[in-house]
Amino acid sequence: MNQYEELAEIVGSEHVITGDDAVSYVTDWRGRYQGRALAVVRPGSTEQVARVVRWCAANAVPVVPQGGNTGLCGGATPDDSGSAVVVSLTRMNAIRSIDTDNDTLVAEAGCILQAVQQAARDAGRLFPLSLAAEGSCTLGGNLATNAGGTQVLRYGNARDLVLGLEVVTADGEIWHGLRGLRKDNTGYDLRNLFMGSEGTLGIITAASVKLYPMPVAQCTALLALNSIEDAVTMLSLARSGFGASLTGFELIAGSCLDGVVACYPQQRIPFEGPSATMPWYALLELSDSESADHARERFEAVIGQALEAGFVHDAVIAENITQSKALWHLRESIPLAEKAFGKSIKHDVSIPVSRMAEFVQVTNAALQQAFPGIEHVIFGHLGDGNLHYNVAPGKAFSEETLLEKQPQVYQLVHDSVHRFNGSISAEHGVGQLKRDYLPLYKDPVELALMHKIKQALDPKGIMNPGKVLVVN
Ligand code: FAD
Ligand code: ZN
Repeated sequence: MNQYEELAEIVGSEHVITGDDAVSYVTDWRGRYQGRALAVVRPGSTEQVARVVRWCAANAVPVVPQGGNTGLCGGATPDDSGSAVVVSLTRMNAIRSIDTDNDTLVAEAGCILQAVQQAARDAGRLFPLSLAAEGSCTLGGNLATNAGGTQVLRYGNARDLVLGLEVVTADGEIWHGLRGLRKDNTGYDLRNLFMGSEGTLGIITAASVKLYPMPVAQCTALLALNSIEDAVTMLSLARSGFGASLTGFELIAGSCLDGVVACYPQQRIPFEGPSATMPWYALLELSDSESADHARERFEAVIGQALEAGFVHDAVIAENITQSKALWHLRESIPLAEKAFGKSIKHDVSIPVSRMAEFVQVTNAALQQAFPGIEHVIFGHLGDGNLHYNVAPGKAFSEETLLEKQPQVYQLVHDSVHRFNGSISAEHGVGQLKRDYLPLYKDPVELALMHKIKQALDPKGIMNPGKVLVVN
């Protein structure tokens, strides 16, 4: 038997994809990385995943786990040697169980995030992980990247939402760790090791996730602001006024909204006059467990206070679900509009909230000095201290010149992030995009410990090689 026949024997020949049919699996979402694969395989069960990994281990074949392929750091794309097997989890999309007394749901890794949210909703519960790619990213990919999104402020990152995992190790063994326990102090935290490891330690095949009560009512508003300082003041006010009911606080540069409207003319900025051309906007969301009236009263009181104090210039409060969705849609369309406009350089950074305004001011100025005319595309999850601090060519550069300057732009922005005690990857991960930058900014002891863990869990180095760490 040749190698394709051996793989076909494990997953079925219709689930071994090669040649032109594999192109979408070996190209990343942004079109930045184009790899090649020996084959793409689509196992239908944990046992099949384990057999594929055992086959790869026996044949020294690299394994590239893949979910919805929406990652932004090239983590799910194989290199161009054509030697790796891409293991796509998308067939493993069953919701295995829901336990409403324990408030847990067990889903397979290939479940589309939206399907997990819907299954929770059908059971009268909330699964709060939410991001713009939720219609195509998978739960496994979310956990492997420790995804963030728009509800982190209240519910935490993906790691905070998981109680147990089922994992296929680099030797092809199955770790049955689908415990639904909120307390379990029986040793090292392996669950959190696999999460955020971007497929470099093993393949997540299923997870037991936490469910929450559905909010009874939600209020959404778009606030027009003069500065990031004002946004931070508003965030503080919203935190103290709403407590745990504050579920979203997104910062959006005015230019991002202009970009969305230019790209999608059916969308509109819901302000008139000067409020429609402010430098900054914030999207605010409150989730209430009492009633719509209670929510509205609290919401209006805090926003009214901010308008009176003058640090919010203007506000539009959604009157109904349709308007609320339209506001969120504006925010979620930013990365899509950005993609439609062409290539950009993305930085997914976190900075202590208290220093965010200064960071943006200092870094913008340094970028303009080094690359006059470069365009800033800034939006993100201010409530989590996480900005997507992206730059586009604007009129000053062609896409090609901008990309040629990428190493210098990265260096400038990442150095600035480092000076502000921030992180160069807040939520998207490292993949291949930021791998070479880790040694520049990570504590050397921390990096050495990461290498030891990689060596211990994947001694043959077959799991997603070339991602996160450079292993010699
Ligand atoms: P993939 O892209 O397929 O894989 C991502 C990484 O995880 C790769 O390294 C891959 O090898 C590994 N992997 C995938 N599945 C498994 C598995 N089962 N076991 C082990 N490793 C695995 N991210 C955020 O955090 N917050 C956001 O707000 C956000 N917004 C986005 C908006 C858009 C429009 C897009 C395109 C992306 C956005 N992302 C965001 C990035 C991306 O959606 C997330 O990283 C997502 O979690 C990736 O899921 P995926 O299934 O597409 O994973
Ligand atoms: Zn984000």
